[in-house]
Amino acid sequence: MRRTIFPAICLVGALLLLPDLRATLAGDAAPLCLSTFQSDVTLPLGDLLYAEPLKTVEHPLLAKGVVLDDGGKRYVLCAVDWCTMRNAAHATFQTKIAEAAGAEPSHVAVQCVHQHTAPSFDASAERLLQQQENPPQLSAPAKTHPC
Ligand SMILES: [Zn+2]
Repeated sequence: MRRTIFPAICLVGALLLLPDLRATLAGDAAPLCLSTFQSDVTLPLGDLLYAEPLKTVEHPLLAKGVVLDDGGKRYVLCAVDWCTMRNAAHATFQTKIAEAAGAEPSHVAVQCVHQHTAPSFDASAERLLQQQENPPQLSAPAKTHPC
C-alpha cells in the first residue's frame, strides 16, 4: 500500500477563506485585513501512517491559518496538525495555499505542530524510494523520526 498525500493536499487547495476580522492599523501604514481559515488535512482511512494503514481517526487533523492583506500583497501563516512535512511535500502545501489565498508562494509560511500521532511526510524522499527496485518500508516512527 502506498501513501497518498493528494487528498489532503486537495483539501488544503480547496480551503475556504473566511473573512472574520478586519483591522486597520493606525498611522501611515495601509489598512491591514486579516482573515482566518481552516481545512481538514486528515489522511484517508487505509493510508499508511508510519507503515501501518490508518484504521481510525480520533479527531480530524487541521490546517489553520491567517491571511494578512495590506491591499497590495497577501501573506499567509499556516499551522498543520502533522508531525513533519519536508521538501516537495512542504513546497506543495505552500504552493496550494498560495493559490487558494491569492498570495505569492514565498509569502506563505507553513509549519507543523509536530505531534507524533500524525503524518510525517517527505514527498521528495518518497519519490526517490519509489525509483528503487525494492524500496525499504518505514517500520516505526522511532526509526524514521527519533525525537
Ligand atoms: Zn518529534
